[in-house]
Amino acid sequence: MSKVIVIGGGIVGCLTALTLTRCGHQVTIVERNQIAAQTSGESSWAGAGVLLPLLPWMYKDEVNALSMRGAGLYPEICQQLLHETGIDPEYTQSGMLLLPEHLNAALAQAWCQENHQPFTIASSSYIAGQGIAQKGIAEQGLKIEHSNQNGLLLGAVAQVRPPNLLQALKASLLQNAVKLIEHTELMPLKSSQKINSWTTTTGDALTGDQFVVTSGAWSFDLLKETAAQLNIKPMRGQILLYKQPTPVLQHIVYSNGFYIVPRRDGYLLAGSTLEDVGFDYSTTEVVKQELQSKAEAILPSLKNTPIIKHWSGLRPGTPDNIPTIAAHPTIKNLFLNTGHFRYGLTMAPASAERLANLIGD
Ligand SMILES: Cc1cc2nc3c(=O)[nH]c(=O)nc-3n(C[C@H](O)[C@H](O)[C@H](O)COP(=O)(O)OP(=O)(O)OC[C@H]3O[C@@H](n4cnc5c(N)ncnc54)[C@H](O)[C@@H]3O)c2cc1C
Repeated sequence: MSKVIVIGGGIVGCLTALTLTRCGHQVTIVERNQIAAQTSGESSWAGAGVLLPLLPWMYKDEVNALSMRGAGLYPEICQQLLHETGIDPEYTQSGMLLLPEHLNAALAQAWCQENHQPFTIASSSYIAGQGIAQKGIAEQGLKIEHSNQNGLLLGAVAQVRPPNLLQALKASLLQNAVKLIEHTELMPLKSSQKINSWTTTTGDALTGDQFVVTSGAWSFDLLKETAAQLNIKPMRGQILLYKQPTPVLQHIVYSNGFYIVPRRDGYLLAGSTLEDVGFDYSTTEVVKQELQSKAEAILPSLKNTPIIKHWSGLRPGTPDNIPTIAAHPTIKNLFLNTGHFRYGLTMAPASAERLANLIGD
């Protein structure tokens, strides 16, 4: 059993810590803010919680392999979290409805068949029955590329509710004797062959046998003085939250880079953006209006629905969405599990599993 320090308490850090503790390690998470809260642009709390890349056929095999393994582990994780903590991460197999606009249906179906992803053709009347205006996007001036008016329903796609998931994970970590050190920020690491201790911004030093960086968009800043050639930068995503008095939408809906995610209780998320604006996690009025008009174009009933909240998160952006899950090339007791970009909520269980295998017993 070794003493492992995990740096960063987002979804990747929490699931890494839980997996390592179940492998028998003595684990501490160090988080500069508060776990399961959104204070400074942390990505996990802000995410939509859709458990599959939006158009998986557009991504490299590595992204889909991690995503599908991660998605496959969620039912058991969520059931266990609910049982242990009483907090429901709201794992829901709501399915994802891809609207016809810009949908390359042949490519999508071929991918689904090859990857055993169940799908059905969603006729225009089925889509209309969901309260969706098919022509909405076209009326916004966006081109319909395919004459096909049918969409595709990927019925097995599931979602989780990230704030609930993180709260459940936090409670479970405490129950499993993981030590949580919050409001404590680690300083950028100095180059060395082995880490004996890692200094915090208040001058304290944390000691451990192994260290794991799970610091999301901030990982490069933490490691830039060492040999790691990490290519990670923040990519802001803004998203809107609505609440409808009675839930109208059954499925996650995706159209042309935009999605609406219905929760069980009538809340709906509509987003999101991909903005290269550094560590600025503010929200903007322009984006709010843009997201609102796209959401209303798809789901006209949102015109009478107030926006409850508008927030942003900083994704750990990486080329091709491929995370780094590896031992540091030169520092022998340092490991990296970071850079999950757009699909970290989906990949995190598989990524944690891989990292635990790297650390070993
Ligand atoms: C709008 C939006 C929608 C999204 N939707 C989805 C989706 O539907 N499905 C999906 O799979 N993914 C989605 N994502 C992406 C997903 O949220 C991220 O890939 C994932 O949350 C990354 O997790 P993380 O733990 O690496 O990062 P974070 O959640 O950002 O956690 C990193 C943590 O490290 C801490 N930290 C940083 N530096 C230090 C330090 N020096 N010392 C101590 N602590 C430190 C931070 O405070 C933070 O809590 C979405 C993201 C956004 C923004």
